[in-house]
Amino acid sequence: MQTDRLRNFIDGAWQPSEGIESLAVHNPASGQVLAVTPFSTPAEVDRAARAAARAQLTWRRTPATERIQYLFRLKALLEEHFDALARQITLENGKVLDDARGEMRRAVENVEVACGIPMLMLGDFSEDIARGIDEYMIRQPVGVVASICPFNFPGMIPFWYLPYAVATGNTVIIKPSERTPLTMTRAFELLEQVGFPPGVVNLVHGSHETVNAILDHPLIQGVTFVGSTPVARHVYARASAGGKRVQAQGGAKNPVIVLPDADVEMTTKIVMDSVYGNAGQRCLAAANIVMVAGAEKTFRPVLAEAAEKRVVGFGLDAGVQMGPVISTQSKQRVQSLIQTGIDEGASLLVDGRNPAIAGYEDGYFVRPTILDGVRPEHTVARTEIFGPVMTMLELDSVDAAIDFVNNGQFGNMACVFTSSGSAARRFRNEAQAGNIGINIGVAAPMAFFPFSGWKESFFGTLHGQGKHAVEFFTQTKVVVERWLTDWSRQF
Ligand code: NAD
Repeated sequence: MQTDRLRNFIDGAWQPSEGIESLAVHNPASGQVLAVTPFSTPAEVDRAARAAARAQLTWRRTPATERIQYLFRLKALLEEHFDALARQITLENGKVLDDARGEMRRAVENVEVACGIPMLMLGDFSEDIARGIDEYMIRQPVGVVASICPFNFPGMIPFWYLPYAVATGNTVIIKPSERTPLTMTRAFELLEQVGFPPGVVNLVHGSHETVNAILDHPLIQGVTFVGSTPVARHVYARASAGGKRVQAQGGAKNPVIVLPDADVEMTTKIVMDSVYGNAGQRCLAAANIVMVAGAEKTFRPVLAEAAEKRVVGFGLDAGVQMGPVISTQSKQRVQSLIQTGIDEGASLLVDGRNPAIAGYEDGYFVRPTILDGVRPEHTVARTEIFGPVMTMLELDSVDAAIDFVNNGQFGNMACVFTSSGSAARRFRNEAQAGNIGINIGVAAPMAFFPFSGWKESFFGTLHGQGKHAVEFFTQTKVVVERWLTDWSRQF
């Protein structure tokens, strides 16, 4: 395992980066430096793109049944090193070990689903569209594709893409977050053991300049992005201007509607896990908790008590339920948004600012916080805080709650907690968000469903995972075919 300046994996070999700039990677619970991420140069992106383009010429002609044998080996290695990968996530990202295991499980599931590619990329055939003429559609790989990834799921998000991309005959460049590059570095040590032909899978570390070099590179034909909305918008515009196929998943501010008939115990537990899991740094984190028609009377005290009791600390320590946020800048930003909420008129029901976490005084901790009495027009009701902050609102009716959901800028997830089937059904039908939870707090799609963000949570058409990923990484070719003997036969 590399512990100092990380290297790129290009054309089947580990290569030191020539980038001059770099970023120290910290364990956010202790502040300890774990490694240094080099900011790779455009010339290194070019090297990776050329290697991938060379490899693709052979890889695309390797039968799908052979290509998936590499994925079966990858699945076995991921299982063998499952715990080490999960621990690596906790060390560099801060989330608790159980959450890190859940993340790696979804990564492995995506490899499993992509093993079905021979079936998933079948074409269509229509005989005799005219006398003696047949027409069929085949799926071919896009070419060289790149995935630009965020810090909050360093083990899972590259696997929303990589397994499908290689299984469908593309070659791949992964650019992990510069803040959490270690899990993918470890995963690439396993990909190296799998023995993919050189150039099929490449890892390039870096930051903005590296990303822009990917977006502009003429040999890269497809780009996937997951991260914040302003960068998603930039990636989508710049890469598609160059004619690339792009999907860019953005940020979120997920509303969760609680009706007075919701089960108190279950709702409290699930809402707490959703708001404070991964220290709120989840694109599917519940953020705006909307109490409908007086539900706050029951829920305010129980949510406050549960938030106060949450065990915060280092994610590898037993019993810890929530870790730190990713960086000291992130902690400052989260705490400054809490102050904005107070300044705009919300009240601080639970104050998690500047906690003392014994043994981890240098960590970037914010304890669970609840801002109560938030109004739809408040900054904190509309801004992705990406920290452990619940913003609680009160609205009179289901109608008002659905309007609130639909007036939001984002559309990643919306949830309802109720025991009324008809209210839930209406919510499911009318809420403008791509992932819906009904008595579920983190409506994360399994690997065989698309990760379906809407509105400003997504730019593009096809999403990550499952059949969407297969379609994204393949282009259709339609063939109309006639053979002379058939054509000349008298009918
Ligand atoms: P981010 O946008 O800061 O960074 C994501 C990637 O973009 C990184 O690899 C980074 O190097 C690169 N990048 C950042 N700024 C750039 C710039 N100006 N130019 C070019 N490249 C740039 O996101 P993050 O902080 O790593 O991740 C958190 C965000 O990701 C949150 O907004 C969260 O909601 C979102 N997210 C969304 C989903 C989803 O599926 N919709 C999933 C996970 C995370």
